Amino acid sequence: MSQKETMQFQTEVNQLLKLMIHSLYSNHEIFLRELISNASDALDKRRFEGLTDAKLIENQGNPEIFITMDAEQKTLTIRDNGIGMNRDEVIENIGTIAKSGTKAFLEKLEENQKDASNLIGQFGVGFYSAFIVADKVTLTTRKAGEPEDSAVIWESTGEGEFSLENTSKAVAGTEITLHMRDEHINLLNEWSIRSIITKYSDHIAYPVMMEIERTKTVPAEQEGEEPTTVSEIEIEQINSATSIWQRDKKDVTDDEYKEFYKHISHDYADPLLWSHNKVEGKVNYTSLLFVPEHAQQNMWEQNQDYGLQLYVRRVFIMNATDKLIPRYLRFVKGVVDTADLPLNVSREILQSSSTLDSIKQGVTRRVLTMLNNLATGDEKEKYATFYKEFGRVIKEGIGEDASNKENIAKLLRFASTKNDAEEVSFADYIGRMKEGQENIYFITTDNLNTAKNSPHLEIYRSKGYEVILMTDVIDDWMMGFLSEFEGKKFVNIAKGDVNLDDKAEDEKKEKPELTNEDKAIIDKITNVLGEKVENVKVSKRLTNSASVLVRNEYALSSHFEKMLKEAGHDVPSMKPWLEINVKHPLVERIARETDNAIADDLAMLIYEEALLLEGSQLENPSEFVNRLNRLMK
Ligand code: ADP
Ligand code: MG
Repeated sequence: MSQKETMQFQTEVNQLLKLMIHSLYSNHEIFLRELISNASDALDKRRFEGLTDAKLIENQGNPEIFITMDAEQKTLTIRDNGIGMNRDEVIENIGTIAKSGTKAFLEKLEENQKDASNLIGQFGVGFYSAFIVADKVTLTTRKAGEPEDSAVIWESTGEGEFSLENTSKAVAGTEITLHMRDEHINLLNEWSIRSIITKYSDHIAYPVMMEIERTKTVPAEQEGEEPTTVSEIEIEQINSATSIWQRDKKDVTDDEYKEFYKHISHDYADPLLWSHNKVEGKVNYTSLLFVPEHAQQNMWEQNQDYGLQLYVRRVFIMNATDKLIPRYLRFVKGVVDTADLPLNVSREILQSSSTLDSIKQGVTRRVLTMLNNLATGDEKEKYATFYKEFGRVIKEGIGEDASNKENIAKLLRFASTKNDAEEVSFADYIGRMKEGQENIYFITTDNLNTAKNSPHLEIYRSKGYEVILMTDVIDDWMMGFLSEFEGKKFVNIAKGDVNLDDKAEDEKKEKPELTNEDKAIIDKITNVLGEKVENVKVSKRLTNSASVLVRNEYALSSHFEKMLKEAGHDVPSMKPWLEINVKHPLVERIARETDNAIADDLAMLIYEEALLLEGSQLENPSEFVNRLNRLMK
């Protein structure tokens, strides 16, 4: 059936097209970058699939991208002999917007039209940019490995619908013809196209060829006759087609690195930093690694693709392979090219390859070094940008990558009792420790305010110890894997007995004996609280507050336990103990109070205060309020 069929674009496509044509008017040249980039992706795919299915690369010829123009017809054509598409794929890929980011893209675009050109690539809506310069686009494509007459013609004016028609195409691949809008026919000349390609697509690893019309003057054969001009078509390669990572890094400009990054990452912004290295040794490879400036929207999703592009001897093997980089560095983009794997490397080989394992180790170290250099260098703000976006992700590495734990720990930044901003490193902390201090003190809560006002801090404050305030949910989990840093032990001040390594103080201090009054009050409160706490103790850590809850060294902190429970995990509850400040007026009053009902209310109240101060919820808020009201009467 070769009948022409008309189909509607998905609503979002219409919306997108309208916005794009408007907002990208001044940046219209990016359409070519997008189409060449798609052609390059299609060539990559065909090459890779051809490794395991030779049928797909039969009669392919040289993989290349071909550009022709016809000033009379006002058309520009981009042709590739890549993987192509079958009918269903055409409908799926360029009739709908299957990608979840598109809605967000549209919202952002409406918000800020200026950034549109940058946003386009990120959300993978590149193909539609053709309509910025064209009022009709005709795409003819045949999928590699499928018969000649399975080709399709897709055509649209970008106004709500497209048509599809079966056709026959001699070779596999895709050909896209743009019928240029009148205001853009001035692009249809060699120099305009050449300069756009050199600006945006020079790094494309496949040759971008162009048909160029040259007029030559032929001298007259006989005297007295006029010389004649003839025009000839020449075919010339426009881009350099050397992959950027193969080049010597001193020959690559920053702008070239940035364009390349945008090409592989689909990001709209420039990368924050990059590192380009040739590694020779047990395993030989070249890596070009980029750290983005912004996290991708799906960074926290469980199964998103991440990883680096793998090339073997400059032949593209696969995209986004997590075999080259650990999950906690999933924001890193880049390329690894090695000569130490076979070209026909299969997925099975990739599953367990010691070559890949060594590359992964090398790449991981390289990224951590690059980040550490940034962290310790002069560009503090740049590091803060990085940390804001990716600080939480690298924390996963503390638990997942034992061999690099120390290097990851160097990258971490926190607030502390001496600095509210998230910028204290463990090294900073150690650098200003008190004389004789052996431990790094920290507390984990779910927000800075709770941390700063925690009763646990009182004794440390009064003795002039700095305490690191950790406020990410992941921190508690992470600190379970970190017992020391540069020889100093980590101590969570909300867990276990106070253990100040304050030697001078310790000597002065007598072993504190419990007085009879202390014992009496402990009994009183224990009776009231019953099973709510493990036990009740006289506190050494409180100076201002009446009470505080303390957890066992091996217990989870309260907010982390709560989070796990909410996420449906079965966590054994470990009861905290309650420490009381026997010098506090409220506690003294419990001791003195002769009315048992009031004493009981007060005892319960100091427990509830402790819960509130650690950021926990009350078991029964209305009872708490009633109790307060009774006491205030
Ligand atoms: P993206 O490149 O980010 O996926 P595009 O809008 O640029 O988004 O392209 C959409 C899809 O259309 C591509 O993912 C690809 O499947 C298909 N496509 C576009 N151009 C070509 C081409 N030249 N050859 C084969 N498939 C193509
Ligand atoms: Mg694209």
